[in-house]
Amino acid sequence: MTPITPKKDRQQALRIRRFFIGAASYVMWLILILYCHHLGFIRLSLGWTLFAFGIVISINIFLYLIFRTGLNKKFTDPSLTFLQMTIAALAAMVAIYYTNDIRGIMLVAYIVTILFGVFSFSLIQYFVFTIFSVSCYATVILLLLNNHPDTITLQVEILQLVVFTTVLTWFSMVGSYMRKIRTKLSTTNYRLNNALSTIRELAIHDDLTQAYNRRQMYEELKREKAKADRSGDIFSIALFDLDHFKKINDTYGHLKGDDVLKHLIHSVSHEIREIDSIYRYGGEEFVIIMSDTDAKGAEECACRIQNAIKHLKFPGFSESFCITISTGITTYQPFESIDALIARSDSAMYKAKSLGRNQVVTQNHA
Ligand code: GH3
Ligand code: MG
Ligand code: MG
Repeated sequence: MTPITPKKDRQQALRIRRFFIGAASYVMWLILILYCHHLGFIRLSLGWTLFAFGIVISINIFLYLIFRTGLNKKFTDPSLTFLQMTIAALAAMVAIYYTNDIRGIMLVAYIVTILFGVFSFSLIQYFVFTIFSVSCYATVILLLLNNHPDTITLQVEILQLVVFTTVLTWFSMVGSYMRKIRTKLSTTNYRLNNALSTIRELAIHDDLTQAYNRRQMYEELKREKAKADRSGDIFSIALFDLDHFKKINDTYGHLKGDDVLKHLIHSVSHEIREIDSIYRYGGEEFVIIMSDTDAKGAEECACRIQNAIKHLKFPGFSESFCITISTGITTYQPFESIDALIARSDSAMYKAKSLGRNQVVTQNHA
């Protein structure tokens, strides 16, 4: 079954919801007019009154179909606010024309109806609508004066017209002011959301290398551990440390050392799978968390990285400049602590250092 509002197009769903809110005000009019009819204030038979309502309902069904088929998107204002308000205004003016004595009550209901446009009209649109409404009401007065002079007291009508004009003008200004505030709020909201996502990014990344930071590493390890403890999944980590990095700093300076770290991590992040991530554990030590990977898989990945680094060229350094890393691999053992896991990979990495550096060592037992 087709839903009343489209599920995928949120903007269109919002327009249709607003259309329903607008259409709901006709219910208020129906009750008001029927009650006035019952009290004898309407100069139309019940049959004609219901017929007029039938027309308004048909127009609204037609409008709903325009929304539901997406035809409204072809208009400059796809919400069709102006059109809906014009229809409502004309319908209300017809009702006012056929009402005796209590036209003031109808004018109040009219003002409630036009609240519908408060959040979407610009100042100009509001003024145009105000002029339109006032002209309609003036026409109603003139028609009554001509056709039913006995039902009208001119001074009262003129007073009503003046108050009506003043209220609508005031509405125009307040309404457009509210629209301005709403636009400002949504712009601020958009900017805040952007700022928030920037802050989120900054909070989880290391400034220098753009690898994830240590806090984020613990978060991810906690997640992997929970997954592994719950469903028996495996995961491995590789902890690597740059070989003789102090010498690079001493020879080329600390800033150049920074460039090496940046370029290295940028390159390594292209060597790992999309589901794996690289974290700065501290100084020139980094950790790669490898989901759903046993020690053998992790070793293959570490060797691939080791190889890629060996041949990596660094911008701003001589052709012969190269670096190596020492890597410790370990696989998570069910229910062990994260600290135990890291300590084991650290110990494996130090073994790689003691075996002469530039190699991968796997250790799965303490
Ligand atoms: P090895 O690990 O092979 O034993 O030798 P190493 O020279 O790399 O020794 P160690 O790991 O102890 O030294 C780490 C050096 O890395 C010391 C420190 O100044 C440098 N370092 C740590 N963080 C940064 C950084 O952000 N930028 C730069 N340029 N250097 C850093
Ligand atoms: Mg080192
Ligand atoms: Mg180190």
